[in-house]
Amino acid sequence: MINCRGMDEAPLMDTAEGIVLFHPHIPARAKENVNKVLSGRWIGQGPLVDEFEKRFGSLFGSEHHKALAVGSGTDALHLSYILAGIKEGDEVITPVFTCTATNIPLLYIKANVVFADVDPKTMNINTKHVRQLVSEKTKAIVCVHYGGLPCDMEELHNIAREYNIPIIEDAAHAVGATYKGKKIGSISPYTMYSFQAIKHITTGDGGLLMLPEEQYEKAKRLRWFGIDRTAKQMGVWENDITEIGYKYQMTDIAASMALAALEELDETLSYRRKLFNIYEKNLTNIPGLTFVGGGYTDREHAAWMCTIQVEKRKDLSRKLRENKIESAQVHYRNDRYSIFGGRQEGKYPHMDAIEDKYLVLPLHTKVHEQDVYKICNVIKSGW
Ligand SMILES: *Cc1c(COP(=O)(O)O)cnc(C)c1O
Repeated sequence: MINCRGMDEAPLMDTAEGIVLFHPHIPARAKENVNKVLSGRWIGQGPLVDEFEKRFGSLFGSEHHKALAVGSGTDALHLSYILAGIKEGDEVITPVFTCTATNIPLLYIKANVVFADVDPKTMNINTKHVRQLVSEKTKAIVCVHYGGLPCDMEELHNIAREYNIPIIEDAAHAVGATYKGKKIGSISPYTMYSFQAIKHITTGDGGLLMLPEEQYEKAKRLRWFGIDRTAKQMGVWENDITEIGYKYQMTDIAASMALAALEELDETLSYRRKLFNIYEKNLTNIPGLTFVGGGYTDREHAAWMCTIQVEKRKDLSRKLRENKIESAQVHYRNDRYSIFGGRQEGKYPHMDAIEDKYLVLPLHTKVHEQDVYKICNVIKSGW
């Protein structure tokens, strides 16, 4: 049972804060689980991390994948880039429009970040632009399922196959999404998930990398200083460290929360999808408004965010705020950050076209259906 929505609570719009853009989803069972862990022997990485990996892996991976639980989605991405063999100076094609967490780990390893433009309709990576950019120098392609809508994986895999390079999926928004009947997590060699505070599943901070089975042992060493923890338990010094690892492990406290969230993930997803569908139904065919990522039948949206594109976005945002409804852009084009070289005018025409238009609306388990109708009505009344 989801403990944090519906009939049992007053709608958020009656509170001083109004309808907030994001809110953590904490299952009642998560609190019980954490309590239990805190009275036990393992609070750091212990047996619950193993159990969570097994469950998550069997839900979303394939028989060729293993799940590695880590301290954040960013940790998972960093490890995936290392495991994919990306080295200093290597070209990686990655979306210009995403959370900076997708691309910053590429800078950790001094890769050559090559941004691909956005597809304005979905706000996912523009596969036509990927085709133009890809070359013998490309080492990997990174894609992000924006808001929870899977990218055009068929075309991305066609390109990757031609050049014999791996695809790394950033599925921070897309746990539980499917593409042509396949689960996100089972399609590409690497898929990363985030369990940061406002994601579908949260452990405060946490993440997971779905990776090729044969790299699991290496990945475990990289997660823990380069040390083989199983061998170490034999108590003899026979464990040289030959590769530089990190401290990227998940704790049992976090895993206990993640296990609780996994139990009710179906319910969480169907609730979020219900809200998404209300938005979609009410916000299509409105002049001057484009609903992002709706209308697909070959893929299932994970409904993490609801995004619209409008003229005079700031005016709409102000009007929503007057009605105690929070909205924001959330992610920004990454090329505008100095660390990625700074803004390049004209290089990403689709990004240029939508960057002042997109706006994210509240969608989470504390939002009620009536809240969504209210938000749609405020929008429909004009701005
Ligand atoms: C949340 C998020 C991440 C990063 O995950 P953390 O767990 O915060 O490190 C990466 N990519 C995208 C698209 C995200 O939204």
